[in-house]
Formats: sequence, structure tokens, C-alpha cells
Amino acid sequence: LFARPWDFLIGARSLGDLPPLDRTELAFAGRSNVGKSSLINALTGQSGLARTSNTPGRTRELNFFLPEAEAGLLLVDMPGYGYAKAPKTEVAQWSRLIHDYLRGRANLRRVFVLVDARHGIKPSDETIMNEFDKTAVPYQIVLTKADKIKPAELEAVKADTADRIRKRPASHPTIIATSAEKGWGMEELRTEI
Ligand code: GDP
Repeated sequence: LFARPWDFLIGARSLGDLPPLDRTELAFAGRSNVGKSSLINALTGQSGLARTSNTPGRTRELNFFLPEAEAGLLLVDMPGYGYAKAPKTEVAQWSRLIHDYLRGRANLRRVFVLVDARHGIKPSDETIMNEFDKTAVPYQIVLTKADKIKPAELEAVKADTADRIRKRPASHPTIIATSAEKGWGMEELRTEI
């Protein structure tokens, strides 16, 4: 799956742009600047696939990526959230798109919720996890930029994160620590996919 190229399929800005429901979808969500593009690029081994955002919080589309090796699967890059300086209209647009996407997306099998290993779960992460719980979309926490903290700190963040998601109905118990920069956790994540 990861030895062959991935193609950009479509950038959806509204419900009408979404691809048909006939492929399994796995999505990536996270706060702006969490390292989502870097992770997708590291995971697929394609440095230019997901665009790294120089402008944090910029409203983007839901981007769908199709692996050449498996036509029945799509990876979905959800637009980043939680950027404090984002204009209200942009936040509203974002919420609408995510809401529309999550509702009735039976082929969306899991969302990887990316959380910066230095900061842990933030209120905006809680908000989107509430939405996932409400719509019964399974999700799993992926800690990013693990190379930026000491191993002991990483263990503490992992334990704290596990505590916070324990009671959530749609959450996956395993937390994956990654570094796109060092390649850490990529095999673990590929196995989940
Ligand atoms: P996005 O906005 O979530 O797509 O985040 P980006 O992928 O654009 O990354 C945001 C910033 O974090 C960039 O400056 C990246 O170089 C940096 N970054 C991303 N992943 C890692 C990582 O694993 N380790 C380190 N040290 N920096 C990272």
C-alpha cells in the first residue's frame, strides 16, 4: 500500500464535492500546525502530497488521497482547527463542512486525531472528539512531533491522554507517538491503516 504512489483525488469545499461512498475512508484531523501535512507526507513517503500550511488556520478543503495500490481506500486530510486568529466566518465554514461530512459517512472508518506531544489534548480537540462521539465515528489519538520532548515527558503525555479518552465511547485505546521528522511511529500507523 505504501510502496506505491498516492494521487490527489479531490479537494471538497462542500457536501456536493464529496466523492461517492463506495470507498473506505480514513481521515486525519488536528489543530492547525499540529504537523498533519508532515505526517501524511511521511506516511505515504511522498513529500509533496499534503501541502504543509505556511498560513496556519487557513480554511482548506477536505482533501482526498487515493493510493495507486488499493482503489477501495481513501485517506482524507481534514482542514486544521483551533487557530485563535481565524476569522469567525472561516470557523463557521469549517464547522459546517465537518458537520456535513461526518453526518452519515458510514464509510468513514476511523479518524486519526493528531495532538502535539508537547501540548497534549486542547479544548478544540475535545470539541471535535465530542462531535465524533455524537456521530459514532471511531477515532484514535496520534501524538506528533515526539522528537521535540524527552522520553519521560512523552510517557507522561501518553498517560494523561489515555486518562482523558478512557470514558469516550468512540475512542480507540491505543495512542501512537510519532515524529514525521524522524520517521517514528510510521510503521505502527501503517499497520493501523
Ligand atoms: P499542519 O498545519 O498540521 O499541516 O502542520 P505542518 O505539517 O505544516 O507542520 C507544522 C510545523 O511543524 C512545520 O514547521 C513542520 O516542519 C513542523 N513539524 C511537523 N512535524 C514535525 C515533527 O515530527 N518533528 C518536528 N521537530 N517538527 C515537525
